[in-house]
Amino acid sequence: MSLADFARYPLTFGPSPVHPLRRLTEHLGGAQVWAKREDVSSGLAYGGNKTRKLEYIVPDVLASGADTLVSIGGYQSNHTRQVAAVAAHLGLKCRLVQEHWVNWDEPGYTDVGNLLLSRVMGADSRLDPAGFDIGIRASWTDALREVEEAGGTPYGIPAGASEHPLGGLGFAGWAYEVAQQERELDVFFDTIVVCTVTGSTHAGMIAGFAALEDAGGRPRRVIGIDASATLEKTRDQVGRIARHTAELIGLERVLRDDEITVLEGWAGDEYGVPVDSTLEAIRLSGRLEAMIIDPVYEGKSMAGLIDLVTSGDIGPDSTVLYAHLGGQPALNAYASLFAG
Ligand code: PLP
Repeated sequence: MSLADFARYPLTFGPSPVHPLRRLTEHLGGAQVWAKREDVSSGLAYGGNKTRKLEYIVPDVLASGADTLVSIGGYQSNHTRQVAAVAAHLGLKCRLVQEHWVNWDEPGYTDVGNLLLSRVMGADSRLDPAGFDIGIRASWTDALREVEEAGGTPYGIPAGASEHPLGGLGFAGWAYEVAQQERELDVFFDTIVVCTVTGSTHAGMIAGFAALEDAGGRPRRVIGIDASATLEKTRDQVGRIARHTAELIGLERVLRDDEITVLEGWAGDEYGVPVDSTLEAIRLSGRLEAMIIDPVYEGKSMAGLIDLVTSGDIGPDSTVLYAHLGGQPALNAYASLFAG
């Protein structure tokens, strides 16, 4: 089996753009920094990393004969917004469980951003007071049962589309796409920096880059920056999904532990709650590059990149690719942080 053996339903415009971040590179004074932009690669409700994952899940949805997508996330989940978008695009119904994952209760938190967009797209978004957990939840299995009891045929997509058996394939494909773009741009990214929470984005990349390396490609570091603040759970989940995905795409060996790197230090104490380094990263990225990032995910991974480049951990001879995974709509729910 290889990645090409899996059906893919296109939800993106094509390869996501790759470009240098010249002013940020100059400011940091070390490695060359580039970005690959999942945030501008789909016309479906601002896209993001889940859109790419869902490209490999939609064929299974269509084959199942389901009429309702069921998924789960926090109140300001980017994932559930992208599931709502894909449901609208396919003409399916959408039932979302939105849990109280984040201790952030500024006025409007449940009215703006991702929740607003999901409602606009016609999703049945229901708020649930349960707290943060990246695993499979009772509220989600309850939602599946409720859809069935109402005569519908549900298709369940777990948090972040990560625990889905095909959840890692989208970002295994991302690795192949990077290799193709490197050939076109005559550049080599020796280091990838990616935000990780439910794990299948980072895991897919690990599997894809390992397959490329085994096929004769140059080795590189794929650094996951934890934004879950539940490091061990995320690390386990990344490892498990990476190994499963590697098997699916035909890697002929088991991934080594040293290929699975999830770094802590920028998540703060709680998922979804920004810390000083997050806000500095958001401001720096906006001021120097007009590249908008959010306080839950990319603000934390960018804070990690900034520190790793300025400390020299990512050396001055490196060329690093920052995976921008989307998530900007949530910024609206954190407006108080930037109030004038
Ligand atoms: N960045 C953004 C914008 C996200 O929405 C998510 C989703 O959780 C992530 C990063 C982390 O990706 P994953 O859950 O696949 O680890």
